Amino acid sequence: MASKSKSTKIVNLLSCPFCENSKEFFEVAEDALITTYYGQNEDGSFTANDQNSEIMGSVRLYCGNCGENLDAFHDRFREMIF
Ligand SMILES: [Zn+2]
Repeated sequence: MASKSKSTKIVNLLSCPFCENSKEFFEVAEDALITTYYGQNEDGSFTANDQNSEIMGSVRLYCGNCGENLDAFHDRFREMIF
């Protein structure tokens, strides 16, 4: 193999140090106040119109594959959401 490195496309993916998953992650809000607004229909059923969530506690990052906590990568994760 040639030792010439690719200089045009360096992508430093965030990956889980425990299982090397780099595809799926999830966040958990530890203390959130979630308010859902409903309207009642004429047949007595309810339809959700709007939802408000206010996060009071911290939000933690986890690996979507093995479920290990990845808080150490959270700042970087946040910077890359767009
Ligand atoms: Zn993992």
